[in-house]
Amino acid sequence: MSDFSLELNEDQLQVQKWVHDFAENVIRPAAQEWDEREETPWPIIQEAAKIGLYSFDFIASCYMDPTGLTFPLISEEITWGDAGIGLAIFGSTLAVAGIYGNGTPEQVAEWVPQCFGTPDDVKLAAFAVTEPDAGSDVSSLRTRAVYDEANDTWTLDGTKTWITNGGIADLHVIVASVDPELGSRGQASFVVPAGTLGIRQGQKFSKMGIRASHTAEVILDGCRIPGRCLLGGKERLDERLSRAREGKRSSTQAAMATFEASRPLVGAQAVGIARAAYEYALDYAKERRQFGRAIIENQAIAFKLADMKMNIDAARLLVHRAAWMGANRKTFSNGEGSMSKLFAGETAVWVTEQAIQVLGGYGYVKDYPVERWHRDAKIYTIFEGTSEIQRLIISRAISGLHLR
Ligand SMILES: Cc1cc2nc3c(=O)[nH]c(=O)nc-3n(C[C@H](O)[C@H](O)[C@H](O)COP(=O)(O)OP(=O)(O)OC[C@H]3O[C@@H](n4cnc5c(N)ncnc54)[C@H](O)[C@@H]3O)c2cc1C
Repeated sequence: MSDFSLELNEDQLQVQKWVHDFAENVIRPAAQEWDEREETPWPIIQEAAKIGLYSFDFIASCYMDPTGLTFPLISEEITWGDAGIGLAIFGSTLAVAGIYGNGTPEQVAEWVPQCFGTPDDVKLAAFAVTEPDAGSDVSSLRTRAVYDEANDTWTLDGTKTWITNGGIADLHVIVASVDPELGSRGQASFVVPAGTLGIRQGQKFSKMGIRASHTAEVILDGCRIPGRCLLGGKERLDERLSRAREGKRSSTQAAMATFEASRPLVGAQAVGIARAAYEYALDYAKERRQFGRAIIENQAIAFKLADMKMNIDAARLLVHRAAWMGANRKTFSNGEGSMSKLFAGETAVWVTEQAIQVLGGYGYVKDYPVERWHRDAKIYTIFEGTSEIQRLIISRAISGLHLR
C-alpha cells in the first residue's frame, strides 16, 4: 500500500466537522445582520471563545498538525459560514503569526495568549504593516522606531492604515523602520501591549465586503514601549542591521516572513467563500425551473457549475500543498505560497460572480447571500499582497530574476 494519501485523517475530519457545525449554526445565520451593521460581531467572537474555537490552545493545536492541513481546513469552514465574521474571529491570528515569526520563545509564550484573552474577557490583536504611502511597497515604511538606550525604551511614530482590528485590538504588532536607509532590511516588529499611551484608532473604513471585520487607521504618536517589546530582541536586531550595512544577505525580513507564512491560510478562506457560493448555486440550479425544466438541465448552466467545482478543488489542492510545504519546512522555490493565495483569491471572485449569474436577478439582490459573497471575495485579490504582487513573487521565483 502506498504511503501517499490525499485523505484527511480522523483528527482532521473531527475538527473540520466541529468548526463546520459552528459555521453553519452560529456564523451563517448571523452573516447578513453583521454585514449590514458593519460592526465587530462581539457576541459571536465570545461564543467562539466559549467553545474554545477562539483561543490560544486551539490555534496552537492547529499549528501542531504535522501535515499543516488543520488550519486551512478550519479557515475554509469558517469563511464558508461568513468571511466578514470569519475575519473578525481570526484577524488576531495575523498578529499571532507576526509574534511567532519574529519573537523569541519567551515572547511567544508571553504575548500570544494575550492576543485572545479568556472566554470571560475576550481580546483581539492586530498586525500593522501597511501605511498610506506604503502598501505593496512595504520597503518604504515611514513609521519610525527610535531607541533610547538610557531608559531601554522604543518610541514609535507614524500612521498605519487598513489595519484589521486596528485600534479596537488590545495588542498591536507594529512593523516600523529602525534604519530607513536599509529599506525592508532596516525594519523590525514591535508589540504594543494593552494600555500603552500614544496609540489610537484613526479613521474607520466603510467597506464593500467583509464588513463585519473592523478595518481602521492606527495612529502612533510618541508611543513609548519597553525594550522587551522588540520582537526577537535587541541583540538579534543589531546583528541583522550590521549584516545589512555590510551588504550581506539576511535571512529575515520582518513583514515579508509573516505574510509568506500566512498565504495558504488566506487562500483557504477564499476557497471557503467560493464553496459557499458554488453549493448555493448548485442547489438553486436544480430547483429553479424555466422553459419547463430545471435550469441545470441546460449545458450552459451545468458546465458553469462544473467549472466552478473544478476551480475550487484546484484552489484547495494548491492551498493544501503550500500549507503542507510550510509545516514541513520545504523551500517555496516556485512561490507556491503565493500561487495558492493568488489562485484561490481569483477563483473566489470568479466563482461568486458565476453564482450571481446562475441565480439571475435573484443573485443581484440582498435577499440572497450570493451578492454578499461576491463583495466579500474581492478582498482576496487585494489584501495580504495583491494578485499582481503574488504574480511578481512567482515570476521572480521561477526566473531567478529580480523582475519589477
Ligand atoms: C480590508 C482590508 C484589510 C487589511 N488588513 C490589513 C492588516 O491587518 N494589516 C496590514 O498591514 N495591512 C492590511 N491591509 C492592507 C493591504 O495588505 C494592502 O491594501 C495591500 O497590500 C495593497 O496595498 P495598497 O492598498 O496600498 O495598494 P497599492 O500598493 O497602491 O497597489 C495599487 C495597485 O497597483 C498594483 N501594483 C503595485 N505595485 C506593483 C508592481 N510592482 N507591479 C505590478 N502591480 C503593482 C497593485 O497590485 C494594485 O493593483 C488591509 C487592506 C484591506 C483593504
